[in-house]
Amino acid sequence: MRRTRTVATIGPASCDEASLRTMIQAGLDVARLNYSHGDDEWRAEVVNRIRRIADENGIHIGIMADLPGPKLRLGRFEGTYYLSPGEEVLLRCGEAEGFADSTSLPVEYEGLAEEIHPGDPVLLSDGLIQLEVEECNGLTVKCRIIEGGPITERKGINVPGTIVKLPAVGPRDEEALQHAIGLDVEFIAVSYVRNEEDIAPARRILKENNSNAWIVSKIEHPSALDSLDGIIEASDAVMVARGDLGVEIPPEEVPMAQDRIVKAARKRGLPVIVATQMLESMVTNPRPTRAEVADIANAIRHGATAVMLSAETASGAHPVDSLLTMLRITRRADMEWDGLTRPTDAKLLLTRAVAHAGVTLAESSTADRILVATQHGNAARLVAAHSTKIPITAVTNNPSVARRVMLLPGVDAVVCEELERGSSTMRLAIKTIFENGRLKENDRVVAISGSPKAMSGPTSTARLYRVGEDGSVAGDE
Ligand code: PGA
Ligand code: MN
Repeated sequence: MRRTRTVATIGPASCDEASLRTMIQAGLDVARLNYSHGDDEWRAEVVNRIRRIADENGIHIGIMADLPGPKLRLGRFEGTYYLSPGEEVLLRCGEAEGFADSTSLPVEYEGLAEEIHPGDPVLLSDGLIQLEVEECNGLTVKCRIIEGGPITERKGINVPGTIVKLPAVGPRDEEALQHAIGLDVEFIAVSYVRNEEDIAPARRILKENNSNAWIVSKIEHPSALDSLDGIIEASDAVMVARGDLGVEIPPEEVPMAQDRIVKAARKRGLPVIVATQMLESMVTNPRPTRAEVADIANAIRHGATAVMLSAETASGAHPVDSLLTMLRITRRADMEWDGLTRPTDAKLLLTRAVAHAGVTLAESSTADRILVATQHGNAARLVAAHSTKIPITAVTNNPSVARRVMLLPGVDAVVCEELERGSSTMRLAIKTIFENGRLKENDRVVAISGSPKAMSGPTSTARLYRVGEDGSVAGDE
């Protein structure tokens, strides 16, 4: 059984049929599509390809749409230019597209010149290039280049210490969100969340469109660390987005922030993804550094429930090998799994209580598998939050929920009809899982379900079964 889930960003290096097939068959759980790059037609094509390959292989794969968010970027321009330390560069704000050279660059956001001040740092390209503001004048910002480097279009801009006045979900995000809803994705990653209010617009738009997609809040802005509890409360999952976080706060603060975010999410029973630069050297090299391997293993040992690849799989030279390497590391680290945790602060008090009773029953009866009936994935989330070593199967009649639970640690899924009575549904599920070979005669099973209906009724029952020779169970009422 696999506990830690893997998320891989799909891009030009990995979107072809053969790469996707290898990655899906190897154990990829969630494919991430970044709405900051590429076009919608390509994204729709990739989603169809992933779902078809997954279906052909009888595998559930979740799709995560990552919204651009209020991240500042350079405008579009042709070519690569080199910024030399000591020289001056002019940032021209409010130009989504325009002329560029090593002394002048277009910046998409119009308000930047007004919102920053002389002496402020401006970082480009994930912090690799460092500028200092000398003068703001109308729509232009004159900067001194402190740390130079090559620059191309659409690179990210970080202005640590400044809270820019961009909405959490701007027009570009709303368009991306509508597109993602149209693709029926399982997860929406909201970028640059600053506080819980930043999540509300995405939640509202999902609701208006009858989407139950889970919201993954990306923690990458310093303000988010001050509002962490509220953000987690309003989210379905959390991502430690170390790329931007490590530019916005000093990099030496990131491990401590990561630990805090992971612990806070786990206490509330939420899955938590640790992301960015996990196997960065594999963007060019065929082997990871020892430090990268240790980073992944330690993230898992400290409670991360998922790990993510970005450029490694999206645009790197070894996309498939990066994923295979990550899977080897997660499988090894999963063996060190230590004991039960309890999501003491999780929402849904009654579901949480029954989930806890079910996991306790399964542990003390040394059950072979826990089944949990789930309509939206929440009951499965609360069972998984206990991090029991016993494998968990989510039982749902909704194929999209079967894909959604792929973000949960230690969970697989079976799609199964919901019958009139909860116990009949769970017996049908046991039989289905028996026929799939994941249960055998005499196995003990704890089935957690709702009543009177297993999936759509409120979670209320944990029941112990023994599997009979043909996958049927005794104890019919
Ligand atoms: P990004 O988010 O890759 O969308 O920037 C992740 C991060 O900042 O770490
Ligand atoms: Mn980011």
